[in-house]
This record gives sequence, C-alpha cells and structure tokens, in this order.
Amino acid sequence: MSDCIFCKIIAGQIPCKKVYEDDDILAFHDINPAAPVHFLIIPKKHIPTLADATVEDTAVLGKMMVMAGQLAKQEGCADGFRTIINNGRVGCQEVYHVHMHVLGGDEPLGPLLTRKH
Ligand code: AMP
Ligand code: ZN
Repeated sequence: MSDCIFCKIIAGQIPCKKVYEDDDILAFHDINPAAPVHFLIIPKKHIPTLADATVEDTAVLGKMMVMAGQLAKQEGCADGFRTIINNGRVGCQEVYHVHMHVLGGDEPLGPLLTRKH
C-alpha cells in the first residue's frame, strides 16, 4: 500500500528504531511511547485491521504473539507486559496496518480501560 506509513517503514522509506525483523514481521519502537517500553510488532503483509484478516494470516498473527513475549523480555520487561491491538473507529486505530503494541516497564501499567459511556 503506497500511502501506508507502516508499509513505508517496512520498505525502508521511513526510518525506524528496529527491535526485530524476519521475513514475516517487523518490530520497532513506537515514536510516541506510552510506557518505558513501547514497541510495535507488524506483519509485513498489509492487513488494515484484524477484521480484514483471513485464515491465511493465522501463522503470521500467531508469530506476532509468540515474538511479543520473547521481545518484551529482550527489551527489559522482566515481570510482565501488555499487548494491545486497536481496530477501527471504535478501537481508536490511527494507522490502518495491523500492529500489536507491546507495553511494559518496571511498574504496573494500571487498568486497561476506564469506562466512559
Ligand atoms: P494506533 O492508535 O493503535 O493506530 O497506534 C498507532 C501508533 O503508531 C501510535 O502509538 C504512534 O505513536 C505510532 N506511530 C506512528 N507513526 C510512527 C512512526 N513513524 N514510527 C513509530 N511509531 C509510529
Ligand atoms: Zn501497510
């Protein structure tokens, strides 16, 4: 997708602070960290949201989950971390290329959500 910022990062057209890369996925630090550790794991395939994923995407999405644990440890999350995938308008997704946030640090992150409605 030519106008997708994460596809441009995959293509090397926009720089990133890389955490991990293989043939299927890329992990890099979030430009606006919300916790002491905050990186993103993305599939190299352009999948806009999880609602667009198909059975063919099962392996790569599974790999993102497995690598989240390994990379969180590598990045210093010794005692836990949180993963978040925002989807669509209600999920407040900003970048329409599936990405898993991996968040952590030394202190508990607090409750996932505060109910507003
Ligand atoms: P979301 O709201 O789940 O779509 O999150 C998008 C995330 O991408 C935000 O946390 C942004 O800070 C992050 N982001 C946007 N542009 C970049 C970039 N060029 N490099 C790293 N992270 C980015
Ligand atoms: Zn993309």
